[in-house]
Amino acid sequence: MANYVERVIEQCKANNPGEIEFHQTVEEVLTSLAPVVEKHPEYEASALLERLVEPERGITFRVVWVDDAGKVNVNKGYRYEFNSAIGPYKGGLRFAPNVYPGIIKFLGFEQIFKNSLTGLPIGGGKGGSNFDPTGKSDAEVMRFCQAFMTELYRHIGPNTDVPAGDMGVGGREIGYLYGQYKRIVNRFEGVLTGKGLEYGGALGRAEATGYGIVWYAEEMLKANGEELAGKKVAISGFGNVAWGAAKKLTELGATCVTISGPDGYVYDPDGVGTPEKHQCMLDLRASGQNIVAPYADKFPNATFYPGQKPWVADADLYIPCATQNEIQAEDAKSFVERGVKFVCEGSNMSSTNEAIAIMQDGGIIVGPSKAANAGGVAVSCIEMGQNAGHACFTAEQVLDQLHGIMVGIHKACAEASQEYYGKYDLVKGANIAGFLKVAGAMMQQGIV
Ligand code: GLU
Repeated sequence: MANYVERVIEQCKANNPGEIEFHQTVEEVLTSLAPVVEKHPEYEASALLERLVEPERGITFRVVWVDDAGKVNVNKGYRYEFNSAIGPYKGGLRFAPNVYPGIIKFLGFEQIFKNSLTGLPIGGGKGGSNFDPTGKSDAEVMRFCQAFMTELYRHIGPNTDVPAGDMGVGGREIGYLYGQYKRIVNRFEGVLTGKGLEYGGALGRAEATGYGIVWYAEEMLKANGEELAGKKVAISGFGNVAWGAAKKLTELGATCVTISGPDGYVYDPDGVGTPEKHQCMLDLRASGQNIVAPYADKFPNATFYPGQKPWVADADLYIPCATQNEIQAEDAKSFVERGVKFVCEGSNMSSTNEAIAIMQDGGIIVGPSKAANAGGVAVSCIEMGQNAGHACFTAEQVLDQLHGIMVGIHKACAEASQEYYGKYDLVKGANIAGFLKVAGAMMQQGIV
C-alpha cells in the first residue's frame, strides 16, 4: 500500500512538471497518510488519492488593466477549485509577483485539509494573480480588482466557490472585488469573505488567523506541560497574520520580540505589545512598500537587522507568519542546536519538508500551518453563515466559537497521530484528521 502512495506522488509530479511547491505539499501529506491507506484498501480501489491531487477544476484567465500612466498591463489570473466533497470551494486569493500554478495548487491542496480540520462544511480552493501590488496606487489596485472579477464572477457563487484574501489581498481589495461582482450579477450575497463590517463582514475576521495560531500554540504548549504566559516569541511577517498573532500573544502574557519583512527583521526588546505598535504594523502594510525598517525609526529601543530572518533572535517559541518555505534546513538545524522546543507555523507551508524532518528529529514540537492557521478560514465560514442567514454575530460569539474550534483542531491532530503513529506528532495528525473527513465524504458520493 505504501507503493500506492509513492505511485500517486510520482504520477502527480509527472503530471504537474516544474510545480515544486505543489509537489512538496503532495509529498508531505500523502507520505503521512500511508498507515491510513493501509487500513482502507477501498481508497486505492476507487483511485481516491489520484482524485484528491487533481483539482476538480482549474481556471486560468487574462486580466487586462490600465495603469495611472495609461499603459495597458496584462496579468495572469487563476482559480483552482480543488475539492468540493464537504462543501463549496473555499480559500483565498493571492496577488504576488511569484504566483504561478505551482503556488496556487499548493495553497489549494493545503486548503482541502485545513478547511476539513475546522469541522465546518467548506471544500478547498485557491486563486490569485501574478499582479504585484507593491507601490501601486489605490486607483490601479481598484482597476486591477475590477478586471480580475470581470472574469472570475462567472465561476463563483455563495454555494459554489467563495474566495477571500491571502497575501496581497486585504480588506481594500475584497471591497473592490465585491463591488464589481455585485455590479455584474445584481445580487447582494456572501460570495466573498473578509468583507468590511458595513457590508456583511464578520466581527473578528481580521484578527482570526493570528488569534487562532496563538490559541493553537497555547494548546501545543499546554499539552507539553508549559504555558504561553511569560514566553518570548519571535514572529516573522508584518501583515494581517503577524498583526493578529502579536495582539493575541500580548493579551496572553507573552512578549512578541520581532517582526520582519522582505527588507530584514526588527528586534524590539520591549515587545510589539502596545496599541501604538500594533497600529504601526497596520500603517506599514497600508504604505504598500513591503518594508519593516520604519518600525525601528519610530520606536528607538527597537533595532532593524537588514537582510536577516528573525530566526536568529533568541526566543522560546517561533511563529513564522510571512510566506511559504521561510524555515529552511539551516534554520531548522540552528533551532535544534539552540535547544528550541516549539515552532508553530502561521504562514501556509512555512517550512520545507527537510526542515520539518530536522526539527522533529531534533525533538522540536512543530505545529503545522494547515492546523494552526485554520482560524482565518473558520471565521470566513462563520461569515458565510451570517450572510446566508441575514444575521450579525457579536465579536464575542465569533471569537468564542473560534477558540473552541482551535482547541478542537489541536485535539483532533493529537488523537489522529496517536491512533496511527502512536505518538504526539501534530504534522502527521493534521494531515490524517483533515483527510479522513474528506475521504469519507468522497467515498459516499461515488466515483465523481
Ligand atoms: N487565505 C486564508 C488561508 O490561507 C484564508 C482563506 C479564507 O478565508 O477563505 O486560509
